[in-house]
Amino acid sequence: MSIVQEIRCSNCSAPISFKPGEMIATCQYCGFTCVIETREPFTLEHSMILNEYTSEQAEGLVRSWMRSGFLKPQDLASSSRIVEKNLVYLPFWVVPVMATSKYRGVLERVAPPVVKQGEINKNYDWLVLARKASPFPTREYDVPLEGKIPYDFRKIQDFAQTLNSEMTRAEAVKTARQQVQAHHRFLAKQEVDRIIEIENEFSMGEAVYLHAPLWFVVYEYKQERYNVILDGATGMVIKGDIPATRFDLF
Ligand SMILES: [Zn+2]
Repeated sequence: MSIVQEIRCSNCSAPISFKPGEMIATCQYCGFTCVIETREPFTLEHSMILNEYTSEQAEGLVRSWMRSGFLKPQDLASSSRIVEKNLVYLPFWVVPVMATSKYRGVLERVAPPVVKQGEINKNYDWLVLARKASPFPTREYDVPLEGKIPYDFRKIQDFAQTLNSEMTRAEAVKTARQQVQAHHRFLAKQEVDRIIEIENEFSMGEAVYLHAPLWFVVYEYKQERYNVILDGATGMVIKGDIPATRFDLF
């Protein structure tokens, strides 16, 4: 159950509605963005990526995805029915991270085991989804940042939904730090079997608040429903459920 609350936009005085847990809200009438708790204007960079597809084109892209790839049933495109198509501007934080991790560990796959050390140096524009309970596959989404422009509510299609951030900038930076740490631990684990110690030196840049267009498509195939998420900027399928193919031998 979600109780919608309202504040007045301090720019155009239209009502801005928000739900519990949301931290940053954007006025749908003038694009003014504010921090809900303090009612202060949001002063950091707020960007967006444009959706390039109509609803029909999005459906066409999902259909051509259905026809490609050998893991899908032959009749997937012809026997499926698209039952939902929603364009949602999802909120993200993009956190620049310069990360160095020095690790020392034991390589146990050789006999005798050897101690090995190494260093991981990487720069990221680390993407943090600003919604807490969303099943969106953030790590599989290669956000096309080169197309980013200042947020302009007039460029958002009337039928699109825009979600507010449930995370403050500080929370996003903290989350990015934890995720990069976990990622570097994962990378170190490719080199050694057991980590003895890992030392991280991270330098976090200025986080950018970003709305990116995603199409959430639901299709029906043989009475079952499946989800597809399409990147509204590039037309690529980010993630798509595929019906399990049964191999009937007889
Ligand atoms: Zn307004």
